[in-house]
Amino acid sequence: MSGQYKYHIITFGCQMNKSDSERLASVLESMGLRAADKPEQSDVIMINSCSVRDSAESRVYGKVFNFSKFKKQKPDLIVGVTGCMPGRDKDKKILAKMKNVDLFFPTQEMIMLPKRLSEINPDLVSVSAAEHYLQIRPNYSSKFQAFIPIQTGCDHFCTYCVVPYARGREQNRSLKEILDEIKSLSFQGCKEVTLLGEIVNHYVAPDREFFSRDNIYKKNDFAKLLWEINQIEGIERIHWTGPHPIYMDEEVIDALTLPKQVNFLHLPVQSGNNEILKKMNRRHDREFYFELIKKIRKKKPEIAIGTDIIVGFCGETEKHFQDTLNLYKECEFDIAYIAQYSQRSGTAAAKAFGDDVSKAEKKRRWLELQAMMEEITLRKNQAYLDKEASVLVDNCEKGICSGNSGEMKRVYFRGDESMVGSIMAVKINKAQEWILWGEMV
Ligand code: SF4
Repeated sequence: MSGQYKYHIITFGCQMNKSDSERLASVLESMGLRAADKPEQSDVIMINSCSVRDSAESRVYGKVFNFSKFKKQKPDLIVGVTGCMPGRDKDKKILAKMKNVDLFFPTQEMIMLPKRLSEINPDLVSVSAAEHYLQIRPNYSSKFQAFIPIQTGCDHFCTYCVVPYARGREQNRSLKEILDEIKSLSFQGCKEVTLLGEIVNHYVAPDREFFSRDNIYKKNDFAKLLWEINQIEGIERIHWTGPHPIYMDEEVIDALTLPKQVNFLHLPVQSGNNEILKKMNRRHDREFYFELIKKIRKKKPEIAIGTDIIVGFCGETEKHFQDTLNLYKECEFDIAYIAQYSQRSGTAAAKAFGDDVSKAEKKRRWLELQAMMEEITLRKNQAYLDKEASVLVDNCEKGICSGNSGEMKRVYFRGDESMVGSIMAVKINKAQEWILWGEMV
């Protein structure tokens, strides 16, 4: 019976959520549901929510409101919300604002979805899912690129962050399971894996006996994991996100030079001022971060580096902000994801500090930093002119192929659809802030 039913998933937020949605799709398909392109064509709509900012949550409320209108025309429609909003809703205040949803559960409870759906609609046959949601085989959205979560949750409690509340404490996935998943992906033609974790470089294998005896790293399990993946035939590029600066030890820095490692590192700094870093509970200061960037560039001089920055955090003065600007200038990042601080209820910052930088001032600081980023990014991109980039093509439209270089720069060049999924050598002849243009070599 389930075969006649259709589902639609709407995903908000980070790569971890996108990866979780691939598992969600797999659970629904194992029950016999088929994907629908549009929510109005479906019988089950799942929203995978994000809590990182107020605006992200508002968009989820907006969707839930719209779908409650659909329910009037189609009373059997099942609407579910999962992800970070149910995860952090300990006092049920969020759920109270979503009266018309039928399912509301944190990501980890995805394994219960078949049972809950069949309770609502007995035509939907419950199938047994895995013991842990990360054991669910995802319904990968690409044949040649895959997200591989190696950990979920976080113990760090940065004062602004909801992740430890929404996803719980850090849980590391079995090494054997990770390696088996990647080996099977490589067998099916996957070329690039992106390892995901809240502090990916804090990975501790629960089953260390599966590390090879000849692994060149001895101390850091994450470095050891990178080495193991480097040995898997067929995998050509390894990318990971997001690390924490304090776990970038000598072995992880050395692993940046492994042959399949992409030439890019995303290393969040959040602020350039020590007082603010302390209030954020980031556990490092700006001097430590500078030294780390120097060490990384000494080891791998051409590496592109990205970061995350929050402007307008509680008590951030103009002087503090200037420290962030000059840190940015000094580190010469290739890219930054700049966020205006958004207070999240339940976090330490919401309890202990006032959200005292005005919206207008946050926006002004964001614009100033954004302008600096664009200027530096453009200058850095110009250094690629006349050089060869290695591009994993993920799209081709009207004879224009595009994909990411090893530095995670978006590259466009003339080509054809047969190139999608291949790694092509492209000589760069034009550099813009967000796009490099070139010709196939
Ligand atoms: Fe959040 Fe900090 Fe953990 Fe990152 S390290 S997930 S910012 S608490």
